[in-house]
Amino acid sequence: MGFSTIAIHAGNEPDPATGAVSVPIYQTSTYAQDGLGRHKGYEYARTQNPTRTALEKNIAALENARFGFAFASGMSAIDSVLKLVKAGEHVLLGDNTYGGTFRLFDRVLRNYGVEFDLVDSSDLSEFENAFKPNTKMVFVETPTNPVMTVTDLAAVAELSHARGAKVVCDNTFMSPYFQRPLDLGCDIVVHSTTKYLNGHSDSVGGFAALNDEKDAEWIGFIQNSIGAILSPMDSFLVLRGTKTLAVRMEAHDRNGRQVANFLAEHPRVEKVYYPGLASHPQHELAKRQQSGFGGMVAFETGSLENAKKVLEGVKLCTLGESLGGVESLISHPASMTHASVPEERRSQLGITDGLVRISVGIEDAEDIIADLDQALA
Ligand SMILES: *Cc1c(COP(=O)(O)O)cnc(C)c1O
Repeated sequence: MGFSTIAIHAGNEPDPATGAVSVPIYQTSTYAQDGLGRHKGYEYARTQNPTRTALEKNIAALENARFGFAFASGMSAIDSVLKLVKAGEHVLLGDNTYGGTFRLFDRVLRNYGVEFDLVDSSDLSEFENAFKPNTKMVFVETPTNPVMTVTDLAAVAELSHARGAKVVCDNTFMSPYFQRPLDLGCDIVVHSTTKYLNGHSDSVGGFAALNDEKDAEWIGFIQNSIGAILSPMDSFLVLRGTKTLAVRMEAHDRNGRQVANFLAEHPRVEKVYYPGLASHPQHELAKRQQSGFGGMVAFETGSLENAKKVLEGVKLCTLGESLGGVESLISHPASMTHASVPEERRSQLGITDGLVRISVGIEDAEDIIADLDQALA
């Protein structure tokens, strides 16, 4: 079956009690049991909730995964997956992941004895040399936030598996519509459903999808033990969001290309980061690995002063953190999403004070471009 058919039907069976076509919001904390030890598969809502189960089936199917787990946020999904790693074990972390992921490793997991090193996973020889005897996991994001560096997932999976390490890919930027990491050999996919999967900037959530039964059992155990579960209401919202994922991603991609082309030709823009541009250093890899380029575009304005003028000059684009919603959002990575990354590391990564990031929405492209044009002027 095609992607859109799966998106609309997987997990979305009519409600057995009433026939409701939309999976209801099962806003309940517990379930009546028929007798001692006899119940309908639902005992307590931290452990199971039918709305959440429907979403878990849905996104797992979209990622071509056997198992899926919905969490209260992208960060809690990542934290729960990291609980596959024990004290004294080592993780290779992409050097340009989401700022909150770096913070989780640096400020939290470190206290529990999880060792990690940062690695440029787009440079395969540096990546290969970074392994240690106790490396058990590799965590990458591609394309990276916000400078859009692409990692060859199939190559990283092969190198990692040969060294006994599992590969986790944060697929938030591409969504399963444009990139399916498990099909490329990765072991676990994580998402912030807050972004494209929900797509309407009205829910915070996270997801983990995988094929390995033993790891899935542990992640399910962690989900229930810690309880960072996605609520019934949010599960409903994300389930509604994924139904239109294909049409939204097509529109984000179409607009993203147009905005990137406009910026690339603008005299006030020094550099544009977008894998869809032929000038992007990994354009060929992106074309091979992804079926589209999406709506995330970053560009260099040259200084904090210039960036400020653009960020405060836009009228249609909304100044704000987050991404992946239907509305265009514009942000300043150095002071917003990446404020928790030390300044020295930021400058190594190209996250300068003049860098502006746009999550290109699905408004009419001409209107987004006109807005950026007047702000740049
Ligand atoms: C937003 C984001 C996260 C964190 O997700 P939350 O839902 O905000 O907890 C992780 N990874 C990426 C790539 C993100 O954009």
